[in-house]
Amino acid sequence: MRRTRNAKIVATLGPASSDPAVVRQLFMAGVDVFRLNFSHGSHADHSERFKTLRALEQETGRPIGILADLQGPKLRVGTFADGPAMLAQGQAFRLDLDKAPGTAERVCLPHPEIFAALVPGAELLLDDGKLRLVVERCSPDFAETRVVVGGKLSERKGVNVPGVVLPITALTDKDRRDLALALELGADWIALSFVQRPEDVTEARALIGDRAAIVVKLEKPAAVERLDEIVAVTDAVMVARGDLGVELPAERVPSIQKRIVRTCRALGKPVIVATQMLESMIDSPVPTRAEASDVATAIYEGADAVMLSAESASGKHPVLAVDMMNRIIEQVEADPAYRQLIDASHSVARPSGDVAEAVCCAMRRAVTLLHAAAIVCYTSSGHTSLRAARERPESPILSLTPRLATARRLALVWGVHSVHTADVDGVDQMTARASEVARRDRFAEAGQLIVVIAGMPFGTPGTTNLIRIATA
Ligand code: PGA
Ligand code: MN
Repeated sequence: MRRTRNAKIVATLGPASSDPAVVRQLFMAGVDVFRLNFSHGSHADHSERFKTLRALEQETGRPIGILADLQGPKLRVGTFADGPAMLAQGQAFRLDLDKAPGTAERVCLPHPEIFAALVPGAELLLDDGKLRLVVERCSPDFAETRVVVGGKLSERKGVNVPGVVLPITALTDKDRRDLALALELGADWIALSFVQRPEDVTEARALIGDRAAIVVKLEKPAAVERLDEIVAVTDAVMVARGDLGVELPAERVPSIQKRIVRTCRALGKPVIVATQMLESMIDSPVPTRAEASDVATAIYEGADAVMLSAESASGKHPVLAVDMMNRIIEQVEADPAYRQLIDASHSVARPSGDVAEAVCCAMRRAVTLLHAAAIVCYTSSGHTSLRAARERPESPILSLTPRLATARRLALVWGVHSVHTADVDGVDQMTARASEVARRDRFAEAGQLIVVIAGMPFGTPGTTNLIRIATA
């Protein structure tokens, strides 16, 4: 079974998509990576979904990526004594550490670290940015604010502090417990929420080791300011437009999305565009024209993957949403303008003395000149296939690896058809295996040219040093 597109689909599982029959339909409709959102659901729910996915992988024989998304330090207000409070524009409103239920004059904000970092003039956004407060006076245990945009405030609503770098780590106690479960189950990717600095990533890496790869969710202005440094230390990135669009004005999100995608493509790190892509399909069986256009834009930009959140987790039409995304991607990739845009936005590697770089540049040229049917990469760590995908070549990339963990991770990557296969011994066996898999998975017919890249000696990561042109 093969997909006939380059860009990948990530879909979130939730109450609307936990039945094994629905998960199977989602996969058939086009999902490459499934996301478990640890902001919702119990450990039992996630373990059950995990089992369903691994059983599906067994049944279909196709490596499936599983992304465990940690909630991160999402700040929330406390509770209210008599239901939601109505905050009026211009009124004073106090936040403090007092656990007593709130009123229309004050509420608990149970995060001492925030008070320590606040300064007069700082803005607080409540409930996805619907309400806006400005700090007038603050101390280590309270802040007196003025309501700039009022409205109804219910208990446990989220609080964003966009302008301030908060002295909090990206992993809360809950995240650590969730991470332990995700690693024990064998998640392929761990997503970190509300990352602010590169150190947040290295701290998580110290806990995760090489058991899973890391996706940084870019949803804080402070992180966008240090984009290059953060992309350098992570394995992949998510443009988390939901919270990003709360912390920054919505009109700034499109150009930031483009900048993030461009930076990730240049560095060869997979990038996912996420949130509200087909939002209206939570209720409706068809998307708005604007949503179809939004998915298409991410594909024209060359993103590795597009993501569904509530559409597949709790919406009325999870399978239709995946099917729609699949069709939009196929349409865009069939457009001749797509190739022109991908080529125009390709950043050619600069002379660096890096052999893998040179092999992959040669591969890209050879594929174009020969109209090769497919590229075959041998990879152990996944590095060769990632480097090949960075070239955004014109032919599909068959990625062969003896490591199942690598095969699963690469399900997220642009253009990669991931295959788990036994080790090869020597160039002749490698070429024979490449032809065999290319024909078996219907990427090439006998006699067509394929371009094979690999590292010798086999199994040593980071040694991509061989290009071989063969006939399938
Ligand atoms: P979330 O992250 O769905 O976990 O909030 C994505 C986003 O903020 O866009
Ligand atoms: Mn978010």
